[in-house]
Amino acid sequence: MSTASDLTYLDNNATTCVDPAVVAEMLPWLTRNYGNPSSGYRFGKRVNDALELARERVAALLGCEPGEIIFTSCGTESSNAAIHSALAMDRDRQHIVTTRVEHSATLKTCELLAKRGHPVTWLGVNSNGQIDLGELERAISDETALVSIMWANNETGVTFPIGEIADIVRGKGAVFHTDAVQTVGKIPFALRDMKVNLLSLSGHKLHAPKGVGALYVNRRTKFVPWMTGGGQEGSRRAGTQNVASIIALGKACEIAAQQIGHEATAVKKMRDDFENGILSRVEGVQVNGDRVNRLPNTTSLAFAGVESEAMLMLLDQRDICCSAGSACTTGQHEPSHVLRAMGYDDTRARGSLRFSFGRFNTPADVARALEIVPETVEKVRRVAAAA
Ligand SMILES: *Cc1c(COP(=O)(O)O)cnc(C)c1O
Repeated sequence: MSTASDLTYLDNNATTCVDPAVVAEMLPWLTRNYGNPSSGYRFGKRVNDALELARERVAALLGCEPGEIIFTSCGTESSNAAIHSALAMDRDRQHIVTTRVEHSATLKTCELLAKRGHPVTWLGVNSNGQIDLGELERAISDETALVSIMWANNETGVTFPIGEIADIVRGKGAVFHTDAVQTVGKIPFALRDMKVNLLSLSGHKLHAPKGVGALYVNRRTKFVPWMTGGGQEGSRRAGTQNVASIIALGKACEIAAQQIGHEATAVKKMRDDFENGILSRVEGVQVNGDRVNRLPNTTSLAFAGVESEAMLMLLDQRDICCSAGSACTTGQHEPSHVLRAMGYDDTRARGSLRFSFGRFNTPADVARALEIVPETVEKVRRVAAAA
C-alpha cells in the first residue's frame, strides 16, 4: 500500500480528503468537550452553541436561514427523509417524478416506493444528459407529491437548471427536492432566491468526514420527520447529534464559501487541462455529456476499445484513483445506468472513466495522469487487440 502522498487521487466525486483545518476544528469535540448538546448545564450548552455555529456556517454557504438546516447522518439519509416527508403530507398526492440518472440514494428509494404501489414517473435524458423541461411539466399532476431531481450528476458532472426546474414544479403545486451533494461547495447559489423546498448535502464530498450530512427544509415547507424519538434538531430528526462531525461540516462549509472561486478557476483549469490533454494525446476518446452545463471538477471520458475495469486495475497499480461509473456500482459489472440513460451503448458505457478533481490536487497530479493514462489506454488496447 502506498501512502496518500504517492497517490494521484482523481476521484473527488467518490469522496474527498478531510481538510486539515476541519480536523483541527473537530478534535476538541471528540476529546474534552464530550457533553450532550441536549443537556441543560453549561458543559452541554457549550456543545449546543458549537452545533448552532455549524448550522449558521452551513446556512451561510447555502444562502438560507440556520433554522432551515437539519443535520443528518449522510446525503443518503437526507434524501430518504425528504422523499418520505413529501409523501406523508397529503394522502391524495402520492405520485413521484424523478429522473433515470439519479444517485442510488434516490433511485433505489423510488424503485422501492414504486414496488409498494406509488406511481413513479422516470424522466429520461438526451445524449447530453439533459432532461426535457416540457416533459417535466407535463409529468406533474395534482396527484404529484414530489419531484426529486439531482442538481449535478456524480458520474458526468452534468448540471440541471435547478432554478428553472424549481419554478416549474412549484408552479404546479408539488414539493421539489434536489440532491445537491455534488453541487455544494462547487457552484455558488443562494436558496433564498430559489423555489427549492428540500435539498440534500453530504459532508464527505466537501472535505468534511464521512457519516454526516444535512437536509435543507424551506421554512414554509411542511416537514414530517423520518427518524422519530427525542426532540433533537427541533424535533425534525431524532437521535443525539454526531457533534464532532457536524462541527467539521460547519467548518468545511465555511472554507468552501471562501474557496468557491478557486473551484471555478484553479480546479476547473486542472480538469480542462487534463481533459484537453487526453483528447489531444489519445485517439478515440469522447466526452460524455454536456460540456457547458457541468461541474467545474468532473470529466467523464469514453475510450474506444477499452474495458474500464482493466483500466482501473492498471491505474491502481500506478497509484492513480479514478472510477468507472459511480463508486457504488464498481465491483458490479453492470454498465453505468447514467451513461445507458444517455443512450450510449454498453460498449461506450463500459469503456468510460470518470476523473474528478478537487482543491487538494495540484498541476503535478494533472501532469502525472497525462503521462500514465495514455500509456495505460495503449496497453489495454494492445491486449484487447491480441486477444
Ligand atoms: C455521494 C452522493 C450521495 C450519497 O451521499 P452519502 O453521504 O455517501 O450517503 C448522494 N447523491 C450524490 C449525487 C452523491 O454523489
